[in-house]
Amino acid sequence: KSTVDKIAAGEVIERPASVVKELVENAIDAGANAVTVEIKEGGISFIRITDNGEGIPADQVPLAFLRHATSKIKKVEDLLSVASLGFRGEALSSIAAVCQVELITKTAGSITGCRYIIEGGQEKSQEEIGAPEGTTFLVRNLFFNTPARKKFLKSPMTEAGYISDIMERMALSHPEVSFKFINNNQTRLHTSGNTNLKDIIYGIYGRDIAGNLIEIKDFGSGGPVELKGFIGKPVISRGNRNYENYFINGRYIKSKIISKAIEDAYKTFMMQHKYPFTALHFTIDGSYLDVNVHPTKMELRFANNEEMYRFVYEAVKAGLTHREL
Ligand code: ADP
Ligand code: MG
Repeated sequence: KSTVDKIAAGEVIERPASVVKELVENAIDAGANAVTVEIKEGGISFIRITDNGEGIPADQVPLAFLRHATSKIKKVEDLLSVASLGFRGEALSSIAAVCQVELITKTAGSITGCRYIIEGGQEKSQEEIGAPEGTTFLVRNLFFNTPARKKFLKSPMTEAGYISDIMERMALSHPEVSFKFINNNQTRLHTSGNTNLKDIIYGIYGRDIAGNLIEIKDFGSGGPVELKGFIGKPVISRGNRNYENYFINGRYIKSKIISKAIEDAYKTFMMQHKYPFTALHFTIDGSYLDVNVHPTKMELRFANNEEMYRFVYEAVKAGLTHREL
C-alpha cells in the first residue's frame, strides 16, 4: 500500500484500542447482539472480534476494504439522526494497511461464508468457507510494516488497559448487546445484553458503586433532549473525571458543557468538589446538535450551549434533591 494510505491509517489507527473500537462499532452497526473481543499481548499481536450481526456479502468484502467505502450514511448532516456509529468508511482500509487481517463472514441469505485475507493493504486470498452467520475479524501484528510506529506503543499491559476501557464504555453505551472481553485467555468482562444498565454498572464497577446510585428516569421526556441513567451518591466521588460516563445517541463523548453542569450541580446541592460517578444516556434530536468531523474524531456541539447546560444541571439537581423526576 502507498505511503499515503499508511499516513491516513495512522490518523485513524493509533493503537490496538483504536482497532477494537472501530471493529466493535462495526459489529454494533451490523445489528449484532453478541460481540466477543479476544486479545493477546495487549492486542499488539492478536485481536479477534466475533459478532452475530448481518455479515458482509462475499462480493462486497473486497470493496469494504477500500478507502471511503461505506454502506452507511452518505451525508455528514445525517450523522446523528441515524443510529450507525461508523460514517467515514475508513476503518477497514486503515486497519488492513497496518495489520495482517483475516475476515470470515456470512450473511443470512448465503449458504456459504467467505474467508478473506489482506495484509499491509495487499489482498492475499478470498475463498468460500463454512461459517456461522455473522463476522469474525482476526487482526494480527499491528504496525508489522511500520516499525517506527510500533515503537510508540506502550507495554502490552497498558495497551490492554486501553482496550478494557473501550469495552467498558461499549457495554455501558449499549446495554442491549452482550459483550465478552477476553485478555490472555481470561474473561475480563461479560455482560448479558439484558438492557439493564444497573447490572452492567455492577459488573464493571462492583457493589460499592452499584449500591450507591441515584436513578435519573426519562428526564425531559418528549422534548428534544431526553436523559436517563444513573448518577452516584457523593460517597463514591473521585479525584478525577474517570467515572464520568455519558453517551449521546449511543456514542461515548466528552463535553465540557455537560461535565461542568454535572459538577456544578454537585457543588451547589451536595457541597461536593470532587468528581461524581455518572452513567447517563442522552437521546438528542439531530437538529439540536452541531457536528464537526475530524479525520479521527467527531466533535459534538450543541445548538444552544446554555440550554444544554441548564437541562443537565436541572436533571442532576432533580436527582440529588429527590424532586419528582
Ligand atoms: P464505516 O463503518 O464507516 O461504514 P468501515 O471501514 O468501518 O466503514 O467498514 C466498511 C464497511 O464494511 C461497512 O460500511 C459495512 O458495510 C462493512 N462492515 C464492516 N464490519 C462489518 C461487520 N462486523 N458486519 C457487517 N458489515 C461490516
Ligand atoms: Mg466503521
